[in-house]
Amino acid sequence: MRKKQLALLLLCGVTISIGACSPKETGAQKETTESSVVKHNEEHLDYDKQEGWEFASGNMQSPIDIQSAKAEKMTADTGTISVNYSPDITKAENNGHSIQMTDGGEAVINGRHFALTQFHFHAESEHTIDGKHYPLEAHFVNTAQDGRIAVIGVFFKEGTENKGFQEVLDDVTNKVDQPITDIGDMMPANKGYYHYLGSLTTPPLNENVEWYVMKEPVEVSKAQIESFKQLYDHNNRKVQPLNDRVILEHDE
Ligand SMILES: [Zn+2]
Repeated sequence: MRKKQLALLLLCGVTISIGACSPKETGAQKETTESSVVKHNEEHLDYDKQEGWEFASGNMQSPIDIQSAKAEKMTADTGTISVNYSPDITKAENNGHSIQMTDGGEAVINGRHFALTQFHFHAESEHTIDGKHYPLEAHFVNTAQDGRIAVIGVFFKEGTENKGFQEVLDDVTNKVDQPITDIGDMMPANKGYYHYLGSLTTPPLNENVEWYVMKEPVEVSKAQIESFKQLYDHNNRKVQPLNDRVILEHDE
C-alpha cells in the first residue's frame, strides 16, 4: 500500500497531497457500477463474459461550478457537519508534497463518522461559485470505516494571515515535520455548505465521493497566497459538467 501511494504521488505531483489520488475502491463504487451495468445491459447480460461488461462512469466528475440560484435547500435538513479535527496533529507526514496523518481526528457528517486522512490545497480553487474562482481551496479528505470518502472543500479568500495555513507552508517549505496546531483556522465557523456527489479531482478520478463545499470562506494573506503559488500554481482541475446531478444546500 505504501509503495502504491508513493507511485500515485508521482502521478499527481502538482498537488501537495497524495490521498486524493490514492483512493481505496469503495463498496459504494462497486454498487453503482453494477447497478449502472444492469440498467444498460438488462436485456442481454451475458454472465459468461462478465469481463466485457461495460463500465458506466464519467458523468459524476468533480470539480463543478456551483450555481447558487439552482441549489436546492435540503428537505428534512439534518445534515449537520461537526468537525473534531485534532488540535495538534503530530504525525503529519510531509515529504514536500503531502500532509498526511494518522491521528487527524474526525468529521461527523449527519451522524456518520469519518476520519480525517489527509488534506491538501489547490490554487486557484477547483470549485467555482457562480463561475467565480477563489485564490485557494483546501480539501479535507475524510474516510469512513467502510471506505466511503467525504471531502470537505474550503475556499480561501484574501484577507488576514491564517496561522494554520502558515504552519502548512512552513512545513512544506522547510521539509521538516512540525505539528499542525491550528487546523481549525482553515475551517469556517459557519458550517453551511453545498453538497453533491462527485469524484476525486486527480486520477483515477473515482466517483461516488461525497462533496461538502463550505459556503463561508476563510481568510489568508496575500503573501501566503503568493508563497503557496510559488510552490504549486495552477494545480486545479477544470470544472466538469453537472449533468443531471442535484446540488443541495445546507444553511446553519
Ligand atoms: Zn483536492
